[in-house]
This record gives sequence, structure tokens and C-alpha cells, in this order.
Amino acid sequence: METVNTNSEQLIDKFGRTIDYLRISVTDRCDFRCVYCMEEKMEFVPRAQLLTLEEISTIARAFTELGVSKIRITGGEPLVRRNILKLFEDLGQLPGLTNLVTTTNGSQLPKLASDLKQAGLKRINISLDSLDAEKFRRITRVGDLNKVLEGIDAALAAGFEKIKINAVILKNRNHEEVTDLVQFASERGMDLSFIEEMPLGVIDDHDRAEAYYSSDQIREDLEKTFTLLPTTENTGGPSNYFRLAETGTLVGFISPHSHNFCGDCNRVRLTCEGRLLLCLGQEHSVDLRHVLRSNPGDLEKLKQAIRESMDIKPEGHEFDLTAKPVIFRHMNVTGG
Ligand code: SAM
Ligand code: SF4
Repeated sequence: METVNTNSEQLIDKFGRTIDYLRISVTDRCDFRCVYCMEEKMEFVPRAQLLTLEEISTIARAFTELGVSKIRITGGEPLVRRNILKLFEDLGQLPGLTNLVTTTNGSQLPKLASDLKQAGLKRINISLDSLDAEKFRRITRVGDLNKVLEGIDAALAAGFEKIKINAVILKNRNHEEVTDLVQFASERGMDLSFIEEMPLGVIDDHDRAEAYYSSDQIREDLEKTFTLLPTTENTGGPSNYFRLAETGTLVGFISPHSHNFCGDCNRVRLTCEGRLLLCLGQEHSVDLRHVLRSNPGDLEKLKQAIRESMDIKPEGHEFDLTAKPVIFRHMNVTGG
């Protein structure tokens, strides 16, 4: 584990898990419409209901004072939120926050990569599901592969400490590209994680059970070309990692279905409306926006609400690809 906790206080849930990782969705909006994440036509949260960037910073401060050492800025597409660089600059100053990262679809990186680096961001995850422009367009509905590849080049040129590619793999859409994606990442010194699709929100594009392509299947495919050495390394998230003997690349698998990751869950999520979600796959939550706005300037009240939220963190998700979705929020709202 790379995160070091400098605070004496820690958030511990009733199953004894220490929570030191917060994922923040700064917007539910996005310039893409990935088929596993959204429907083609989406209604977004009215801007007035969003947390302001100042409110996000205040909540982040409260969490770091409670021992959280890793924060991921995500969405929706975080880099389409206005003045987002200011948020990175502010969070970069928080004592105890040793690991500030973001996940982006890469479309804004040609113009923002270098500013993000300047703002103090050290690590970045970029989503890339296909290296074929047409398939990429089909998966993202509107995305332009060249723009994202340009964004990856810009991130590489900006000199981030670490860049990781995220790829959601769907059967018959991009499953035959897993080896090419690993090759692409390793040639550029980037790591890569494969993600199993999760049943978050109703989607109209495909049947999630039919499109399921397991992490084990991906590993088998990769083993035709690479030697995957198991490693206990972890980056404080849900990935299970292997190292490629040939290139040293770290390849992760996020496998909510085939290898449930709840037992050592260390994270909670803040939606763009200020709802603190205690689990990705359950609805247990606390309205931190309400706490914040009813007690202006009172960080202690906010910290108390966060401490108390630990009592309702559920043991785990109950994802079932064959059943109707029970979680109606899409991933862009949840903060993937
Ligand atoms: N827009 C940014 C991006 O795409 O990287 C950040 C937000 S996105 C919700 C974060 C990650 O969640 C992406 O890697 C995306 O591929 C993944 N994701 C979205 N919907 C998903 C789903 N239903 N199941 C699994 N992963 C999903
Ligand atoms: Fe946008 Fe990311 Fe969802 Fe794709 S996965 S629609 S890029 S938020």
C-alpha cells in the first residue's frame, strides 16, 4: 500500500475496515456517452444542485482530517467541469493527502495535461476501451479516438509519475483487443486495468449478462502472449495486479463479479450533489450537502456526520448481471 496516514484519527466501519480513500464525482456531465455507463439521452443534475468547488474542498478537508490519504477526482468527465484546475490546486495543499489522482476519458488532456501537472497532480488514469476508431466510436457513441490518443501523448509529455489505462471489456465489442491494449500501454510505460462491467443504471444498448467477459477469460487471452506474474502490489483500489515478465507492466483486474472485492473495501464516494455513498452497489448514503449548508463554517459537524456514516457502510455489493438492475444510478452519477 502506498498511502501513509499521518492523522491519529481514522474512519473505521463496523466490519473493521479502515476507510482512507474518497472518490469524488465533480460532475455527472460528460462529452462521451459510453454504452455501459449511460443511455444515449441523459438528464443531468441541474447546475444549482451541484456542490460548488469550495464545498467539495471543504468536504475533502474534513475527510483528510479523518485520516483519508487518497482522493480520486472523477465523474462524469471531471475535466469538463469549469475551473477544475483550481480544485486540483486546492486539494494539492491538504495536509495528509498523499495521493491525489483523477480518472478521465482523455478528451480534454490535449489542452489540460500540462496544467494539471503544474497544479500538482502526480498520477492519472485514462479510459481507453479500443484502439480502433470505429469501435471506439461505437462504445463511446460520440468519442473521437484520435483526440484521446493525443490526450495520452500530452499526458506522457507532461511527465506524470504514473499513467494508468482503464479498459472496460465487453464480449463481441472489444474483447479481442485485450492483448493490443496491453501492448499499447507497455510500449508507453503505462500500467493498465481491465474492468468487468457493473450493472449500474438502466442502459438501452446491450444486455449486460450477454456482454459479460470475465477477468479470468482476459487473463487466459493475455497468457497466449505474455507471462503474468502474480503480485501483491496494490494501489489502494480494487484492482488485483499481475506483472508482465516481458515488459514489467502492471496489469490489474477489477472483477466485481468473478472476484468480489468488498472484503477489503477502503473507500466511499461523494456524488456531485453531495451525497456520500457508502457502497458502489448499495443505496446507503448521507446527505453531506445538507449538513454543510445547514452548518456553514462548522467543519466539526461535517466530520461528525462522516464519522457516523461508518455505521451504515454495508458489507458489500450484491451485483447480479442476470437480474434487473437494483441500482438505478448510472456510473457517471456514482463517480466511477
Ligand atoms: N469519464 C471518466 C472516464 O471515463 O474515465 C471518469 C468517470 S468514469 C464513470 C470512470 C470509470 O468507470 C471509467 O474507466 C469507465 O470506463 C468506468 N465505468 C463506467 N461505467 C461502468 C460500468 N457500468 N461498469 C464498469 N465500469 C464502468
Ligand atoms: Fe463519460 Fe466516463 Fe461514463 Fe464514458 S465512462 S460516458 S467517458 S463518464
